[in-house]
Amino acid sequence: SRPSLLVLDGPPTALGVTTQIEALKGFKTLIREEKAAALYVTHDLSAVAQIADRVVVLYRGKIVEQGPVDQIIGRPEHPYTRRLMEAVAPRMSAGKAAYIDQVKRPDSPSMETCKVTAGYGKITDGRSAIPVLSDVDLTLPKGRVLGVIGESGCGKSTLARVLAGLHTAARGEVLLDGAVLSPIVSERSRHQLQRVQFIFQMADTALNPRQRIGDIVGRPLTFYHGMTAKARWDEVARLLDLVELPAAFARRYPGELSGGQKQRVSLARALAARPDVLLCDEVTSALDAIVGDNVIALFRSLQKKTGVSIVFISHDLSLVSSFAHDIAVLYAGRIVEKGPVQQVLSPPYHPYTRLLIASVPEMRIGWLEDTANSRSALAASGQAVRLAETGCAFFNRCPSAIGGLCDQSVPKLKPVQAKGPHTIACHLH
Ligand code: SF4
Repeated sequence: SRPSLLVLDGPPTALGVTTQIEALKGFKTLIREEKAAALYVTHDLSAVAQIADRVVVLYRGKIVEQGPVDQIIGRPEHPYTRRLMEAVAPRMSAGKAAYIDQVKRPDSPSMETCKVTAGYGKITDGRSAIPVLSDVDLTLPKGRVLGVIGESGCGKSTLARVLAGLHTAARGEVLLDGAVLSPIVSERSRHQLQRVQFIFQMADTALNPRQRIGDIVGRPLTFYHGMTAKARWDEVARLLDLVELPAAFARRYPGELSGGQKQRVSLARALAARPDVLLCDEVTSALDAIVGDNVIALFRSLQKKTGVSIVFISHDLSLVSSFAHDIAVLYAGRIVEKGPVQQVLSPPYHPYTRLLIASVPEMRIGWLEDTANSRSALAASGQAVRLAETGCAFFNRCPSAIGGLCDQSVPKLKPVQAKGPHTIACHLH
């Protein structure tokens, strides 16, 4: 419609960093070609640094600061803008894996997957009509956080749903403390259900709007632990306190809470079951930087306090690296690299991990152009993710691909050092 003004209201940036680069490049080109003005409304400051000329900072419905982008990014004055900047200060460049691993690697896993292959549509000979995951082997050691990272569509959420029994794999097994779990949630015992809890991405839809917070958090207490009346009420208050919400919130409905508060209620509900494993699927992607940072700090302290094992699924590598002990990189439904976070974030890299690391947005004007013109980004740009039956799925986007080998043979995960925990699936290694 050849607009004079484009209004981009919270454009999707929770797709994955490489997709985000494509999207931002597209917006910039469109704005330039249309010679249009654009209003870009977002909570993503790193996107603002790449796309805006002027920035307006809103807090509680009021403009608290405004000015040219270099001034706001480089010399923020209002305390709220400064807090926003601190919350998104790149966690990776500031010492890479910020979550210092002081936990001894336990010998026994809490949860494992063995050759999980899953997708959608009819299953024939152990394969789905629309394949998503292929031969996924993962181990979640007791008391540790396993980050699963990958772009939108790589199979992260399908994996979480298979672990929870909400989606049936075409092939493969999910084990809890060495015992095979039924692939169907309704066939899992109450004890098995209690031990694995799910926290969903959208707290808005995960909480029943017609139930009070006290009933939402209290239900698992009755269902799993038989608590009633005063004991249940006291435990709800304790759990709300644990997630830093006032006990009086028990009388409220979800609609009376902010996004961050709702996600805390989801966490309290999951903890009410006293689980051994928490499955967290993009739990901060709908929250702004400050609220998301607070939620992660809470997860971190509760993980240390309770020793719960966590599968933390996210598209945000810097976020995962600040929280997880181990990382699994998922590409087109396959694990291409996994290991302790500091080893995965140090060379040697899988070419896709290298692209992910290079694509983590920086709060620097001009970063988009520099990154979009890098060798690996140019090789990956404009190429769709493809599921490969033969050869490496990253072949069509890989700057190091070896013709005749990479397109013919699927690389297997191999340890970088003999018997070490860091493994890469790439013919280069
Ligand atoms: Fe690139 Fe080949 Fe390695 Fe795949 S196997 S990531 S195409 S070098």
